[in-house]
Amino acid sequence: MTTTGSADPPMSGSPQTTDALVDELIDRLGPDAVLTDPADCWTYGYDNSRRQQLPAAVAMPGEHDAVVTIVQACNRHSVPLTVRGRGTGTAGAAVPAAGGIALSTERLDRIHAIDERNRVAVVQPGVCNGDLQRAAGELGFFWPPDPTSSDYCSIGGNLGCNSAGPRAVKYGTPRENTLGLRAVAGDGTSLRTGCYTTKGVVGYDFTRLLIGSEGTLAIITEATLLLTPLPPCLATMRVTYREMSDAAAAVSAIMAQPSTPRALEFMDEASISLIRGMEQCDLADDVGAMLIIEFDGLEATVAEGVEAIRTAASNGGMVEFRQARDAVESASLWAARKALSPALRTIAPKKINEDVVVPVSRMAEFIDKLKRLGARHDVRIVNFGHAGNGNIHVNLLGDPDDPGEQERMSACLADVFDVVLRLGGTLSGEHGVGFEKRAYVGLEIEPGTLALMQKVKEQFDPAGILNPGKLFPQGDGSI
Ligand SMILES: Cc1cc2nc3c(=O)[nH]c(=O)nc-3n(C[C@H](O)[C@H](O)[C@H](O)COP(=O)(O)OP(=O)(O)OC[C@H]3O[C@@H](n4cnc5c(N)ncnc54)[C@H](O)[C@@H]3O)c2cc1C
Repeated sequence: MTTTGSADPPMSGSPQTTDALVDELIDRLGPDAVLTDPADCWTYGYDNSRRQQLPAAVAMPGEHDAVVTIVQACNRHSVPLTVRGRGTGTAGAAVPAAGGIALSTERLDRIHAIDERNRVAVVQPGVCNGDLQRAAGELGFFWPPDPTSSDYCSIGGNLGCNSAGPRAVKYGTPRENTLGLRAVAGDGTSLRTGCYTTKGVVGYDFTRLLIGSEGTLAIITEATLLLTPLPPCLATMRVTYREMSDAAAAVSAIMAQPSTPRALEFMDEASISLIRGMEQCDLADDVGAMLIIEFDGLEATVAEGVEAIRTAASNGGMVEFRQARDAVESASLWAARKALSPALRTIAPKKINEDVVVPVSRMAEFIDKLKRLGARHDVRIVNFGHAGNGNIHVNLLGDPDDPGEQERMSACLADVFDVVLRLGGTLSGEHGVGFEKRAYVGLEIEPGTLALMQKVKEQFDPAGILNPGKLFPQGDGSI
C-alpha cells in the first residue's frame, strides 16, 4: 500500500486485511448495507467501458455519516475505495480497478428540497438525473445537464465526470449549474463547498475542483444545484449542407450571433452514409453534413430567434433549411440523428468512441484531417456530436480485439489526439479520463501542472485510497 497519495493503485490489501475491513463495515453499517457474495459484487465492478474488476465488497450507505465511517475504515485498513453511481460512464472511471471496496450511492437517493423561490434543488448523489428532471419539471424548472443517459445515470456520476449533453451549448455543464457540495475527502474529513447563493467568493472554489474529479479527491454526499425555469416554447430546425466545411462555417456564424440555440448538433458525411437507406433517413443525395438546432424561449422571442439562426445558418453550401411545425415533425427531424447510435452499435459493437473538443472555428479543418487519418491508418471514422461546443464524438470503427486492427486503431487514435491538441482543443469534453484516457493526459497537461494536481490529490487523499489508478498517467493501473 502506498502512503504517498500518488495516483498509483495501492495494493488492494491482503485478504486478511480486507476481511477484517469487511467485518468492521458489516458491524458498523449492518449486514444489509454490505454485499460480499461475488455474484452480487460483480454487478458493481463494471461500467460502460466494458472493463471490469471484482470488488471485495460493496458498501451501500444511506447518509453522509455512513460515508465518513466507510472512508475512515478504508484508511485504517489501507484498502482502496471506489465510489460509483449507476456505472454508465464510458471511461472506466467507476470500475474498482485496484479491487477493494465499491461504494454504491444507490441508497443516497433522496431529493431533500426543491426551493422554487431561490431556483435551487438539494439532492443526494444517488438521485437519478431523470427523476430530478421530472420532480423539478412539475414545478416548472429543470437542471440543465442532460446526458442522453439521463434516465439511468446519477447526479453523483454527472458531477464526478462534469457530464452534459446537447443543452450545454446554452445552459452549461454541472460546473455552471452547481452552487455547493457536501463531501467526504479521502482522509475522512467532512467538507462543505460553495454556498446557497448564485454569487459567492469566500475561499477557494472547491465546488468546481470536485466536479470532474472522478471520485479521486472526495465522495460527494449532497449537492446544491441551480435550477432553470422551463422555457415555454421550443423550435426545432434541421439544416443540411453539401460539405462539412459549409456546416462548420454555419456553426461559427450561429454561435457568433446573440440568439444562442439550446442545442446545435451535427452529423458528418460518414455518419449520414451509415443511415442512408434507413426508414428514418429522408436526406437528399447531395447532403454531406447536417445540423439539428433547437431554440427555446418565450413565445414572443422564439420566432425572432429562429429567423436570426436561419440567417446565420444560410450560406452557399446550404441544401435545405426546415423548421418543424409540431412535435411530430420535430421527432422526425431528430430521427436520423437518433438512428445513428444503434446503427453504429450494430456495425461495430466494440468501436472506440472519443469525445474530443476543438474550437468551433477549427471544426471543418478537424473533420478534414480525420478523413485523412482514417485513410492513412485504414480505419473507418464516423463523427457527430455537439457542434455548438466543438464537442465531437469521434468513432473509430473496428474490432480492438483483433490484434491487427487494434494496432491500426491505436496508432490512429494517437494521431487523432495529436491533431486535437494542435488545433487548441482538449481530449475529453464530457466523458472524462477514467482508466481509458490516462495514457494521453500527459500530452495535454504539462508536467508542472500535473505535479501540482498530484499534490492536490495528496492533500485530499493522503493514503491514495480513493479511486486509485484513474485520471493520472502514472502507475500500471492494471485491470
Ligand atoms: C447510452 C449512454 C449515453 C450517454 N450519453 C452521455 C451524454 O450525452 N453526455 C455525457 O456527458 N455522458 C454520457 N454518457 C456517459 C455517462 O452516462 C455519464 O458520464 C454519467 O454522468 C455517469 O453517471 P453514473 O451515475 O453512471 O456514474 P458512474 O459511471 O457510476 O461514475 C462516473 C464517475 O463519477 C464518480 N462518482 C460517482 N458518484 C460520485 C460521488 N457521489 N462522488 C464523487 N464521485 C462520484 C465515479 O467514481 C466515476 O469516476 C452516456 C452513457 C451511456 C451508456
